[in-house]
Amino acid sequence: MVNVHSHAFQRGLRGQVDRFPRGAGSFWTWREAMYELATKIDTDGFARLCHQAFREMLASGITTVGEFHYLHHSGPVNNYAFDELVLQAADEVGIRLVLLYASYETGGLGQPLDPGQRRFTTRSSDEYWRQLDRLADQLTVRQSLGIAAHSVRAVPLEQIRILHEEAKRRGLPFHMHIEETKREVEECLAFHGKTPLGLVNDELELDANLTAVHCTHSRPEDLARFLDHGGRVCICPLTEANLGDGLPAIEVGAARNHEYLSVGTDCNARICLNEELRWLEYGQRLRRETRGIFTDVEGDVAATLFDVGTRGGAAALFLEAGAIRPGAWADFLTIDLAHPAVLPAAPDDLMAAFVLGTGTEAIDQVCVGGRWQDARQ
Ligand SMILES: [Zn+2]
Repeated sequence: MVNVHSHAFQRGLRGQVDRFPRGAGSFWTWREAMYELATKIDTDGFARLCHQAFREMLASGITTVGEFHYLHHSGPVNNYAFDELVLQAADEVGIRLVLLYASYETGGLGQPLDPGQRRFTTRSSDEYWRQLDRLADQLTVRQSLGIAAHSVRAVPLEQIRILHEEAKRRGLPFHMHIEETKREVEECLAFHGKTPLGLVNDELELDANLTAVHCTHSRPEDLARFLDHGGRVCICPLTEANLGDGLPAIEVGAARNHEYLSVGTDCNARICLNEELRWLEYGQRLRRETRGIFTDVEGDVAATLFDVGTRGGAAALFLEAGAIRPGAWADFLTIDLAHPAVLPAAPDDLMAAFVLGTGTEAIDQVCVGGRWQDARQ
């Protein structure tokens, strides 16, 4: 299973950000708590959280993580001390990692960085590529790179254009947070006269290398145009729910197949891909007051969801994985078919019992790049 979008260090917020003494919170109040963690964390703490998050992923059957990495520095000076720690932690845990190396330059559209964002900055284009090339030399066989612009809030349009073009030239995936909140859409409309996705549609030469993360508040016409040009979308249902972001209007069914979709654990408040997958389906059921949203030609929901969590994720990260076939990485998991959580499913119903009825308990072993590991360690 492929987790396309994670910020491992945010695992440190689990259990600490769901009390609301001053009344209702939002993405923006959560972000303050995240900045507080990002500002005070040291190298040991950062490495520990990466280990913890990646180990938990492996135990939940996730064989690859797309780590959208923007917390680069261990202090106010640009030292990029955290970059290598991500690679090291993934290697030690044994999970495949695609380092989605994030550019971060502004504190909002046309705004300077605020103090909570200083450890994120990649400062200039030169500095970004220099550091990326340095990291490229340190990758193991289970690691690869992707390019990321944090968001239209954090990266100027001209820089997004350059990053995207260079990603295409290098044959790398390109990821960006897009339209997670209404405020981002409104601010972008005021600044650029276009929505973030409208901007992406108009300004970038789109193909299948671009994965838009969230699209919670995307206009249907923007999304349709984006998908028509091969764009991909990563949904993070548990994070979007935890942060109170909203429910995206996802196109599926007769009009569109599901191949553009993938999922991610994002803030890692809970690490369980099955839960992300079923809430991808359930969110749309609640929104539309109907059952059976992500169905294949035979009407099978679980098969489609599992496809999103495997093949869809691998495609978004440019990996030969997510399916058992010659030439692909030997990344897979085994399920304990005698586990009470999947019983008494008939063989044809096992996938639905697994995806809709279990968390991580029925996962027995995982194999990454041909190396077996006990998921329950
Ligand atoms: Zn994110």
